[in-house]
Amino acid sequence: MRVTFLGTGSAMPTGERFQTGVLLQEEGRTLLIDCGSGVLHRLQQSGVGYENVSTVLLTHHHLDHVADLLPLMKARWLAGEGHLEIVGPQGTKSLVDELLAVHEYMQGKLDLQLREVHPGEFSVAGFDVSAYETRHSLPCLAYRFGNLFTFSGDSEAFAGLANFAEESAILAHDCSFPDDVDVSNHPTPDTLGRELAGREIGRVYLTHLYPHTDGRHEEMLESIGAHYDGDVRFAEDLQTVSIE
Ligand SMILES: [Zn+2]
Ligand SMILES: [Zn+2]
Repeated sequence: MRVTFLGTGSAMPTGERFQTGVLLQEEGRTLLIDCGSGVLHRLQQSGVGYENVSTVLLTHHHLDHVADLLPLMKARWLAGEGHLEIVGPQGTKSLVDELLAVHEYMQGKLDLQLREVHPGEFSVAGFDVSAYETRHSLPCLAYRFGNLFTFSGDSEAFAGLANFAEESAILAHDCSFPDDVDVSNHPTPDTLGRELAGREIGRVYLTHLYPHTDGRHEEMLESIGAHYDGDVRFAEDLQTVSIE
């Protein structure tokens, strides 16, 4: 499996990190997880392109995870790739319907399949997925792909999610802010490190990074390292990780 971080930023721009998007590729199958602002451009830069993404899996409906959905639809329509499946938590159907209601000229242009999923097991774009409800300000699902890859979506750090990710080769986890930012609905390095302590995870990539984290990477890694002695790195836009 190849995991490409298309966007490792958040709702406040850093100028370098676009909003959330993760591309999974395995044996000819392709899945885009989340589609925040900038992800359409990153898809093009990645060499995969919007023409080759016909399934989008959403973690939740915050703008920084869905802002490029309509632009993706329009680009695919213009390219003659009218089919698109959008899968996400409860409310995904009405979200897409209402987005299309705002831009009436987009209605009926695409062969859209909309599917709502719940915590538990399902399959999407040929990938077997487990979903787990996170702790966030909107209903949000974390997704796990066998023992290879787990994506936290947006979430506080908590034991249930750390259990869910245990024994993944790669975990990409929200680490929005450094420790001195008082935050709920997202982790800080200290809270993340405490929940990861003692877990068996191949490597952890930190993502969903707010501008507050710029220049603070070393201290953030030290803060996690005070509790968790595994391999932790910062994800970067357009970085690809191969997982065996
Ligand atoms: Zn969110
Ligand atoms: Zn977010």
